[in-house]
Amino acid sequence: MPAEHPRIHSFAEYEETYRRSVENPEQFWAEMAEPFTWRRKWDTVLKADLVGGHNEWYSGAKLNITENCLDRHLAKRGNKLALIWEPNDPKTRQIRYTYRELHQHVCQFANVLLNNGVEKGDRVCLYMPMIPQLAIAVLACARIGAVHSVIFAGFSATAIADRVNDAQATVVLTSDGLNRGPKQIPVKRVVDEALEHCPSVRRVIVVEHIGWPVHMQEGRDVWYHEEVKDASKSCPAEEMDAEDPLFVLYTSGSTGKPKGVVHTTAGYMVWADYTFRNVFQVQENDVYWCTADIGWVTGHSYLLYGPLLSGATTLMFEGIPTYPDAGRFWEVIDKHGVNVFYTAPTAIRSLMATPLDNVLSYSLDSLRVLGTVGEPINEEAWYWYHQHVGKERCPIVDTWWQTETGGIMISALAGISPLKPTHAGQPLPGVQPVLLTQEGKEIEGNDEEGYLAIKFPWPGMIRTTYGDHERARQTYFGPYPGYYFTGDGARRDENGLYRIIGRVDDVINVSGHRFGTAEIENAINQNANVVESAVVGYPHDVKGQGIYAFVICRDGSCNSESDKPHVEASIIETIVAEIGKIAKPDKIQIVSGLPKTRSGKIMRRILRKVAEGETSNLGDITTLLDPGVVDEIIKGKK
Ligand code: ATP
Ligand code: MG
Repeated sequence: MPAEHPRIHSFAEYEETYRRSVENPEQFWAEMAEPFTWRRKWDTVLKADLVGGHNEWYSGAKLNITENCLDRHLAKRGNKLALIWEPNDPKTRQIRYTYRELHQHVCQFANVLLNNGVEKGDRVCLYMPMIPQLAIAVLACARIGAVHSVIFAGFSATAIADRVNDAQATVVLTSDGLNRGPKQIPVKRVVDEALEHCPSVRRVIVVEHIGWPVHMQEGRDVWYHEEVKDASKSCPAEEMDAEDPLFVLYTSGSTGKPKGVVHTTAGYMVWADYTFRNVFQVQENDVYWCTADIGWVTGHSYLLYGPLLSGATTLMFEGIPTYPDAGRFWEVIDKHGVNVFYTAPTAIRSLMATPLDNVLSYSLDSLRVLGTVGEPINEEAWYWYHQHVGKERCPIVDTWWQTETGGIMISALAGISPLKPTHAGQPLPGVQPVLLTQEGKEIEGNDEEGYLAIKFPWPGMIRTTYGDHERARQTYFGPYPGYYFTGDGARRDENGLYRIIGRVDDVINVSGHRFGTAEIENAINQNANVVESAVVGYPHDVKGQGIYAFVICRDGSCNSESDKPHVEASIIETIVAEIGKIAKPDKIQIVSGLPKTRSGKIMRRILRKVAEGETSNLGDITTLLDPGVVDEIIKGKK
């Protein structure tokens, strides 16, 4: 019987644990790694290099992460539900796998990969809807030591080809099509188009999901169900080195060309498990639901690896929050008795804009903990979530982290740490954040603001960018040698709680006053007419930079041109009351949508180009959700 991992239970224990993790990180992380299944223990806990970016954790150890996600639980939790799948259409069949069943499916598909010539170290791209075969395939790759690269199944053929070629993948898993609310999308067709430009791919495995006809290319394409039919349900796990790559995942592309972030086996495993258990405080019989797509890092760490490593029951949802209606999330929570719910501010804001009855008609009694990730959550959204979803009894963990950090870095621990809306809170044990001046000097004390950096390695940190270590070094370790640079700006309040105030590149400097985008947007969003907003700076003769605000209004609050002056004046009033005259926008443009990445983040760099009048070169827009929005914004420019 494996030892169970310890968990922090009180704030005093958090403080004590934090102190220990900083005073003797190697001893701390050795202890935290102890209860996992290792084929061989490590020689060295940490080899640190925050200058060249060559950091290693648990060097010399041998393991397989799937033995820790699955095999390790079989004795005690074999019949416990590991995965619950909720389909797009609530009237169709759910799927539930116990740990034992999931183990068998993973082994079976691992054998399919082996039968198709996949070897340890090969890259396998997964361009898949949110269906159980995706979860199974991710774990099957890990089982045999193949490196998975999940590509969000909303990306275009060009974006797929870029990622497949960058990773030099040999095998691609996809499906005939996918369901997205009322729509069906021909996934395989997009893959076919992409693969015309991907010579490295020699095998495509196709899941039959919606029953659409597809073209199967002779010699290259095979059906999942046919391959699985005769494959054995047992598959010994490949022995991996602690630092063997586990996956490549591309960042969202909010600030530029996406980076192929590489995570390795042992450190990522320890980090995903540790952060999951402590932040969400999931109990043995809980149902846990993370709404992120597995195509994003949140889906990797907190839909799959974190929950399975901790032996939790994780829910996977195929659909969207607004289908069949805007009550779907809440319906799913009641239906499955979800106890812990983790989503993104963008989803909350979009649901807030719909009639309140959508949420009030569900009991939501099972909920105990709520979480958010991906962007700063503005106060209005925080209170709405807290009041109408959490019924004022559920703590909200606002989790700050990045694809590159592998797991949550700054967050409250649910029910343990103090909560403050718009503040992510305190660092997790093992995380040593600092605020730097632009010149790279550490800013001491509280009630301060600066560039957020991390001054000591943590197990889940990025190891490299695929095929191009120099890019990783320059991006993360180059700006301030000796620190991991996050690219985000933050404030530490008088009690040491961190608030993310926006990307460093987006800081607006108005007559010498520096503003993070999040703080101005937070103020604008307080206005009753506003659903969502994005602000950027643009060159201004007198002030250095002026503030340009793009605002989406609530349905009915700005129906015509003649409503606009009144709405704009009211927004300005709100900002002046919330922050002061200095933050008054110079221009307000009312828009019907904002340019967002497919993970729902606002791409302010595009808005900045619009505000600057430089729309001829918008940079990499392959990760943009709806390019049509950009044209509309350009047309309406002030
Ligand atoms: P790229 O690096 O390609 O520009 P990206 O930074 O959007 O894309 P991700 O790794 O998906 O890619 O997102 C990480 C970023 O998301 C963080 O750096 C931060 O700006 C933002 N973020 C995530 N969680 C939070 C949070 N809880 N509060 C504030 N910001 C957050
Ligand atoms: Mg980033």
